[in-house]
Amino acid sequence: MTSEFTIGCHLSSAKGYARMAQDAASIGANTFQFFTRNPRGGRAKAVDPADVAAFRAFAAEHGITRFLAHAPYTMNPAAAKPETRAFALETLADDLARMEHTPHQMYNMHPGCHVGQGADAGVELIADALNAVLAPEQTTTLLLETMAGKGTEVGRTFEELAAIIERVELADHVGVCLDTCHVWDGGYDVAGDLDGVLEEFDRVVGLGRLRAIHLNDSKNPLGAHKDRHAVIGGGFIGAEAFGRIVSHPALRDLPFFLETPHDALVEWGEEIAALKEMRRA
Ligand code: FE
Ligand code: FE
Ligand code: ZN
Repeated sequence: MTSEFTIGCHLSSAKGYARMAQDAASIGANTFQFFTRNPRGGRAKAVDPADVAAFRAFAAEHGITRFLAHAPYTMNPAAAKPETRAFALETLADDLARMEHTPHQMYNMHPGCHVGQGADAGVELIADALNAVLAPEQTTTLLLETMAGKGTEVGRTFEELAAIIERVELADHVGVCLDTCHVWDGGYDVAGDLDGVLEEFDRVVGLGRLRAIHLNDSKNPLGAHKDRHAVIGGGFIGAEAFGRIVSHPALRDLPFFLETPHDALVEWGEEIAALKEMRRA
């Protein structure tokens, strides 16, 4: 059975939504990801309604129905310092408010770092933050990304992600984004035992929660806890595994986003073309 392959890459949001949709279409992509603001934090630009209208028109013509916004990766709702947590809450609330200009899309965040307080404390703080910012009327789905377990990152294990989601009152607003480099670095063998990893995800979190995939090869071996992305086929996961990942019945209908280290749009275009070749019907 054939189904549509939803694939794109991380793009610069500097020139707005319409430009991102154009950039995506120019490289054979039908989705894209972007940072909601400078990834190291700072203020976000106001959403321009004319840009959103231009985006909608272009997207409708080019079969772009979904995108994924990515929170700044320095945002840490699990921080020990109350002022860092307050800043994370402010950023989250502001991003979620701006997401409603483009309803029914997805917003991905790194859960946070417990900075020595312990994973259990981190889980509680992250769940508290989500409970503070999620509201029933929001149409956006918030995704927690699977992490590599570098430093004190929370979300390396499926159990930690499940523990956060379990504590969220509006859990129907929450899903998971699986990053292939991160889970590999976290010790889940998506190259040698993809079925086993997905069965474990299903048992612990539930495959129904899985809403997006970050496609990255890894510069490090299984379980390295490093988080260094490699181009597809240029790392320890290997090209063959990506053919299985983009074809897997449990994953193939999800949107896939490349966060691979390239410099030019054309290079992601080539990677997308290669992945289309690798995808089995
Ligand atoms: Fe990320
Ligand atoms: Fe990622
Ligand atoms: Zn990463």
